[in-house]
Amino acid sequence: MARLMGQMMQMPLMISSLLTHAARHNGDVEIVSKRVEGDIHRYTYRDAELRARKLAQALQRLGCQPGDRVGTLAWNGYRHFEIYYGTSGSELVCHTINPRLFPEQITWIVNDAEDRVLCFDLNFLPLIEKLAPHLPTVQHYVIMTDRAHMPAQTSVPNLLCYDELVEAENGDYEWPEFDENTASSICYTSGTTGNPKGAVYSHRSTLLHAYASALPDGMGCSSRDVLLPVVPMFHVNAWGVPYSAPLVGAKLVMPGPHMDGKSLYELFESEKVTFSAGVPTVWLGLITYVKQNKLKFSTFKRTVIGGSACPPAMIRTLEDEMGVAVLHAWGMTELSPLGTVSKLKGKHESLPKDAQRSLLEKQGRVIYGIDMKIVGGDGKSQPWDGKASGDLLVKGHWVISSYYKRKDSPLEQGWFPTGDVATIDTEGFMQITDRSKDVIKSGGEWISSIDLENIAMAHPAVHEAAAIACRHPKWDERPLLVVVKKPGAEVSAQDILGFYEGKIAKWQIPDDVVFVDEIPHTATGKIQKLKLRERFADHALPTV
Ligand code: ADP
Repeated sequence: MARLMGQMMQMPLMISSLLTHAARHNGDVEIVSKRVEGDIHRYTYRDAELRARKLAQALQRLGCQPGDRVGTLAWNGYRHFEIYYGTSGSELVCHTINPRLFPEQITWIVNDAEDRVLCFDLNFLPLIEKLAPHLPTVQHYVIMTDRAHMPAQTSVPNLLCYDELVEAENGDYEWPEFDENTASSICYTSGTTGNPKGAVYSHRSTLLHAYASALPDGMGCSSRDVLLPVVPMFHVNAWGVPYSAPLVGAKLVMPGPHMDGKSLYELFESEKVTFSAGVPTVWLGLITYVKQNKLKFSTFKRTVIGGSACPPAMIRTLEDEMGVAVLHAWGMTELSPLGTVSKLKGKHESLPKDAQRSLLEKQGRVIYGIDMKIVGGDGKSQPWDGKASGDLLVKGHWVISSYYKRKDSPLEQGWFPTGDVATIDTEGFMQITDRSKDVIKSGGEWISSIDLENIAMAHPAVHEAAAIACRHPKWDERPLLVVVKKPGAEVSAQDILGFYEGKIAKWQIPDDVVFVDEIPHTATGKIQKLKLRERFADHALPTV
């Protein structure tokens, strides 16, 4: 029998369409950026779309061919936004690079991606001067500034001025249509073990991710929002915000490199920000500043927090003391990144506040387009009872199927293993117990380092806490808690250990607490547990 086909228009899902939509229908909505140069720049989606077209022309003039990679080393700002669209929209591939990585890693990544053009913010010039001799594929270096700020002297070969390149074009350019499965952008994982691996996103995966994450049960963005992504555009596309914002027509506010508590607070207030997104460590800085100065947010109402577990104490501070609702979310580079968001179902609306809280503290439910499961050591699915934990596997429209240039497939029977251990409850709320390599294995039983950290973070004297495994002659591993105290706080190890009593089983309570001035973080703001484990490998745990 002949199949009856749908009779709808065929329109490939193109990233450029997000920006043309914003320019046509929300053309006067602003994009406001705090520039590296220190001042504030403001223009509209209409202006951004025109400049992105001019950039596409300029890159063609430089000889870029479809599929060529254009690297960026840049903060959140309007020029970076234009590069997102000017590259992907013209069939080039936007390769965002994390400037917080070690220089050797950046060199490795640029060479692996074979970037043809490298665009970078003004303050990265010294870094690029060091790296340029080791980047044989890069033919053009573009510094993201205007003529007035061009360096008088530099060793970077043929350095081009971004604004000059763009302004030399007439904008007479039509966004091309091509296969929606074409690569749009690349982001490398941080590679805590081995070399970083590239996740190659497509136009289709990026658009579907933008759609789903903008939904009310996702991040919930609308044209009434003023969105400030603290999460950087140099890592996993700032969680898709540069795509979701034009999709809904929200005003965008970009903080540039100015991400300390004071600068962020001032920008939140002056631009009337309603919604933000960032990792827990960023909020630590902002919360401390707001509390110390007894300030209030006048428009800021919601934030997505993810990237590592958001301690319940942080959720409470933001909600109860500052009136900011927290959406706890989980994702990863390989997922573009959004997988789950903690939002209540209709039937939970009537639950008591505490019961709602315990649901919302979890990493949440999958958004449509993603599926998940947890499996035991035998590969069999574990029950969704909120208790049984297992390895978390996912699949979906914006999950990678392979890594850039790697032949071996990371998939297990069509599912992507996340490396996280999790529980899922009867309502489908997923909770991350740990990264599998961070779980503390004590006498054959597992202790969740996240649980230990969450409890410690609720102690009034604790600024930040990390729980790690320490070698133990009898139990193999025992938990050690590493703590940064709040400024001026007086607290002993014994006080903190006492705080655990009644909150978890006795055998899970850490054996010891060490105080440090600072906990090391990765380039994406996660606690560097590997470094802590090395540092405290020989820590003598007290014998009882
Ligand atoms: P990296 O930046 O280190 O390359 P990703 O940004 O892809 O890696 O990080 C993904 C990992 O971060 C997840 O596998 C998980 O371990 C952790 N993660 C992300 N969000 C959360 C969260 N809300 N709670 C706990 N862990 C999280």
